[in-house]
Amino acid sequence: MSQAKSSAFADKLLSAEDVVTVFRLLGRNMPGRTRDAKGPKDQPNPFRSCVSCMLSAQSRDENTAKASAALFALADTPQGILALSDEAIAEAIKPCGLYNMKTRNLKMMCAYLLDELDGEVPQNRDGLMKLPGIGRKCADIVMSFTFGADVIAVDTHVHRVSNRLGLARGKTEAQTAQSLEERSPAWALRDGHFWLLQFGRTVCVSRVPKCEACFLSHLCPSASIAT
Ligand code: SF4
Repeated sequence: MSQAKSSAFADKLLSAEDVVTVFRLLGRNMPGRTRDAKGPKDQPNPFRSCVSCMLSAQSRDENTAKASAALFALADTPQGILALSDEAIAEAIKPCGLYNMKTRNLKMMCAYLLDELDGEVPQNRDGLMKLPGIGRKCADIVMSFTFGADVIAVDTHVHRVSNRLGLARGKTEAQTAQSLEERSPAWALRDGHFWLLQFGRTVCVSRVPKCEACFLSHLCPSASIAT
């Protein structure tokens, strides 16, 4: 079987029946939330979770972890972070890149939390997305990893796999998240992120997907796209 182009997404969306079959097969072959939920995103403190997610934009996980640890060693509350100088924050979060913009967003988020929400992090997507620097992906990651909501957070792996497979359609991660939510069966929302993430890391990898060994190739509209 020919391989999917690494950057191409098939036009075809799977039928509702095939979407269910894909999720069933993913559930049988990939670890879900209960078996493999721990990781750098697993952060029980909502404020720290929002901060780490904001710092993760265009950064590798290990660099985000370094930046988060350095910042939280200085302060891990909105009041504490607002009391820091911009220079101190930027120096601490340097490993995750874009540190001047992220410093500005951090301070704006802290000020918004204190001024508008008495320092409480909202426990719903719409509220989270009102925080400066928090978009759909971060909101869904906080909802899923910190508040335990049944939400498929869409990162770069989930975005790529969902579009290649025809599970969802979206040019941006936020569009894919919306499409995926509309097209996924309710029972798949709890583990879907974990299944798709692991599948994207091990089988449907970014540059050269392993179509020959893929247990979904008989359903995948991208498997027939020649490289
Ligand atoms: S889902 Fe499977 S068949 Fe489809 S592009 Fe990815 S690896 Fe290839």
